[in-house]
Amino acid sequence: MQLSARDEQRLQGVHPDLVRVVRRAAVDMPADMEFVVLEGLRTIDRQRQLLAKGATTTMRSRHLTGHAVDIAPYLDTDGDGTKEISWHWPHYFRLAGAMKSAALAEGVQVEWGGDWREFKDGPHWQLPWRTYPA
Ligand SMILES: [Zn+2]
Repeated sequence: MQLSARDEQRLQGVHPDLVRVVRRAAVDMPADMEFVVLEGLRTIDRQRQLLAKGATTTMRSRHLTGHAVDIAPYLDTDGDGTKEISWHWPHYFRLAGAMKSAALAEGVQVEWGGDWREFKDGPHWQLPWRTYPA
């Protein structure tokens, strides 16, 4: 699949290693699976809003430094012939498989929010604090 101009715009300011993984995942994506980039770099104001809404639990988000990206499966989930963003976990698990393969191929360590024990975050991918201190 091809990343759209909007996807590429949303990757601006994101760490090049993470961008490489996202691009590789797009290239290697099976034909029946697509994804969109929801968000990359985030402002402190937006992080405050998300915290107030309960959409995040931290002000130490890796989005603030360009070490995180949110992506979502993009497919025809209701069979009407148009693709839409999916919020179904099975789709996120498939996408995670593709992302992890891409990360391995690029030699980049990534963490998936879906693997977190608390506050699972299916769209969220980040570079580890340990290997990529801000
Ligand atoms: Zn995120």
